Amino acid sequence: MKRYEKMSRLYAPTLKEDPVEAELASHRLLLRAGMIRKTAAGLYSYLPLAWRSIRKIEAVIRDEMEAIGAQEMMVPILTPAELWHESGRWDAYGPELMRISDRHDRAFALGPTHEETFTDLVKNELRSYKQLPCTLYQIQDKFRDEMRPRFGLMRGREFIMKDAYSFSATQESLQEVYEDQKAAYARVAERCGIRALPVVADSGQIGGDTSVEFMALADAGEAELVWCDCGFAADVEAASTSVPVTEGPGDGTLQKVHTPGLGSIEDVAAFFGFPENGTRKSLALVAEDGTRVVAIVPGDHELNDIKASHLFGAYHLMSDEELEEAGLFKGFIGPVGLPEGIRLVCDESLRQSTSWTCGANEVDYHFTGACPGRDFTVDEWADLVSVREGDPCPHCGAPLKSARGIEISQVFQLGTKYSEAMGATFADENGVERPFLMGCYGIGVSRTLAAVVEQHNDEHGISWPVCVAPYEVEVVPLAVGDDVVTPVAERVVEELSAADLEVLLDDRKERPGVKFADADLIGIPYQVILGKRGVANGVAEVKVRETGERFEVPLDEVASWLSERVVPARA
Ligand code: ATP
Ligand code: MG
Repeated sequence: MKRYEKMSRLYAPTLKEDPVEAELASHRLLLRAGMIRKTAAGLYSYLPLAWRSIRKIEAVIRDEMEAIGAQEMMVPILTPAELWHESGRWDAYGPELMRISDRHDRAFALGPTHEETFTDLVKNELRSYKQLPCTLYQIQDKFRDEMRPRFGLMRGREFIMKDAYSFSATQESLQEVYEDQKAAYARVAERCGIRALPVVADSGQIGGDTSVEFMALADAGEAELVWCDCGFAADVEAASTSVPVTEGPGDGTLQKVHTPGLGSIEDVAAFFGFPENGTRKSLALVAEDGTRVVAIVPGDHELNDIKASHLFGAYHLMSDEELEEAGLFKGFIGPVGLPEGIRLVCDESLRQSTSWTCGANEVDYHFTGACPGRDFTVDEWADLVSVREGDPCPHCGAPLKSARGIEISQVFQLGTKYSEAMGATFADENGVERPFLMGCYGIGVSRTLAAVVEQHNDEHGISWPVCVAPYEVEVVPLAVGDDVVTPVAERVVEELSAADLEVLLDDRKERPGVKFADADLIGIPYQVILGKRGVANGVAEVKVRETGERFEVPLDEVASWLSERVVPARA
């Protein structure tokens, strides 16, 4: 039988007002519901309600890890600097690595992740290919001195992570372990009540992915995504697709047109009565090495900053002075008749287009009908655009949808990066020493909790899915200490507990309004409301937090009525 908890003694200090520092729903509501408290910037305490949910998330993870044969263990949070020197990350990690020294001045880091520790751990003891593959994991606090810790549990400086490391003898084996972890991660998200998309973070040379991030869909997410019902999902920064382009106006011959004061794509498109997509957007920039570049994309798309950085290094858009020095005119830049020494880089999607509407490199003039090869020479065709909503899916061609996402977990094929650097080898079938093929797999446990709240809340508070709710049922007697409702509430709580349900009893002497508000704020999935009249008639009112539906349930059926709904919804 599960023990129930009484609200009168529960450490869950709820707040009436929204905390000013909280911008995100999850941050605000976890604070208000008395579930977390800030200890210092990026450091949060989990109060009893939040901790119960955290433990449920961990239980789901443990269950899924056990199902694929990963073994739980624990290594120290403190990691000696020597290991980080071996991998080369002591210097590479930068200021995010929290470094401390002991009384003998020996340096350590508080682990932000544990590739080094695990690689070092197995390196002299996993000796033979016969012992492989082997996957080890732990659930532990991690430390990262984030530049901008914020949004409560979302980006902390200390946070809970499940981190797994796999050691394989062959690429095929690594691939299998990786696919198992990836599938388990999808199930973890689903069982925690999170709608998440697997986003390819890295593709291998032979197709297939070597790293995937699971993104919980939420408006508050930091990542901008495009996705499709066919299963495709990508970060807009990384997505590539062929953007459809329309040809500009005119008969295909080069025409210079007077466009006084029309320096924006919007104005030019309106002037010609053409969609923005039929125009060409020219951006003048200076590459890291000082080269002047004009980059051209379809008029209705943006130059993608990440893609541009790959091509041009730490580039910047030209200032007014730099434009003048280069002989370019803001709003009227184009590919035809560019001044000497400017490199022309155009987006791949424009390669087949033969009639461009673009700036004429002369104030107040545009060209129509500009044709690459005939009227100007392109130095390089490259993938430059940010893919956006409505562009065709690169897999199936259907219009892409856009969304924002929170990265809750990531799976990664590391290959031999750490095993080679740290000399971690095993003997293969022929007795030849080879470096392990490794994978690493991380789930942000505390961030997952925040992501659940981002996806499950309304104007009244949190609305926990049963699978990770701190309690499953809250019993709300509207009169406390009287001889009608109180004994009934006690009996109902006993029956619910006997039915193995997790129960919170609001036994406080508070007004009904206060109790209802707190119940909705804390967001236990089912509320059993016991009023004088109902009890006199032998019924309880059961409110479903998520939908607001209310049911009248005979008192002696409350336990079975709830069991039927709660038990199947458990993770
Ligand atoms: P981000 O890009 O958000 O900084 P990351 O890619 O650096 O995250 P990983 O190294 O992949 O993070 O760590 C595994 C998981 O740990 C992440 O998917 C995320 O859920 C969680 N995580 C990472 N940093 C934080 C943080 N500062 N606070 C809370 N959770 C975090
Ligand atoms: Mg990551």
